[in-house]
Amino acid sequence: MLPAIAEWSNKLPIKLPAGVKLPAGVKLPDNVAPEWLWGVGAAVVAVPALYLCTAGLVSAKVPKLENKRICLLIAHPDDEAMFFAPAVLGLTRPETGNHVKILCLSSGDADGLGETRKRELSKSGKILGLRKPDDVFVIESPDFRDSMTATWDAGKISKLLCTAFVPNLSKSNAANVAPTASIDVLITFDAGGVSSHPNHISLYHGAKKFVGTLMGKKKDWAAPVDLYTLTSVGFLRKYLGFMDSIPTFISWAAGTDKRDKKRPEGLVFLNGILGSGSYRTAWRAMVGAHKSQMVWFRYGWITLSRYMFVNDLRLVTVEKAKVEKTEKVKTEKSKRQ
Ligand SMILES: [Zn+2]
Repeated sequence: MLPAIAEWSNKLPIKLPAGVKLPAGVKLPDNVAPEWLWGVGAAVVAVPALYLCTAGLVSAKVPKLENKRICLLIAHPDDEAMFFAPAVLGLTRPETGNHVKILCLSSGDADGLGETRKRELSKSGKILGLRKPDDVFVIESPDFRDSMTATWDAGKISKLLCTAFVPNLSKSNAANVAPTASIDVLITFDAGGVSSHPNHISLYHGAKKFVGTLMGKKKDWAAPVDLYTLTSVGFLRKYLGFMDSIPTFISWAAGTDKRDKKRPEGLVFLNGILGSGSYRTAWRAMVGAHKSQMVWFRYGWITLSRYMFVNDLRLVTVEKAKVEKTEKVKTEKSKRQ
């Protein structure tokens, strides 16, 4: 049956609509192009339609963060555009009522471009919808060197975050009252750091320690800051571009508890393809703002990477008991060594 249809489709004559004439000297071929052209045509229609369908499902089903004070914690200028653009674009939409800030722990000075990269981050933040220039803050410290081999100390990151967002922590502890913070949500990398970069991974451990610290050592307080991390995926999914929206949505639907609407366990952000606040905007943040970073292979990344189209974030549960237990195990291990 199928070969017969293929043969039949190959023999379909091309007919011009009535009244349409070809210019002199132009001749149409006798047969329609082979069947692969039909496949390409179907894919051109079906793939974006599938994406739009998933985008519709995401906006209808996935809970959103609204009226929150949010800090995106990154390691280098350009992390916000290369990895977190869909989340930042989704969270900075004016109708959400969120206030988003970016805290970057290094100026990305490994090649001596620190000052340039700071300016580029500021420009990118503006493109991604941040309200004002001082919503971006860059730390320059020998403790947080931009390096492919440096692991940053989790305790130092936690201390820095406490100083920035919970300045009353020691007073609260002394008065035996739960601390309050100037942010509600902290977003950063997960334990895989997207690219296994040790600076990225350090942020995960530092942020987790920070949230654990806010819960108090002996008291039963809930942390005033929710920690969300960006899910790292395997090689194949990383380069699936917008097609990864489908496995991402399935993973959210199957793998997260939907009962707590105020503290959603999982968040998904999908960029539109065109228009404002879309993939095009993410592209502009990277290509237009981070000019010093646009070497040839980055064009490959921003074209194929799923992180330019889709972000999924997971709420990290930091149990006080677990934090203490982990610390205990670490101390015992270091004693043995
Ligand atoms: Zn980075």
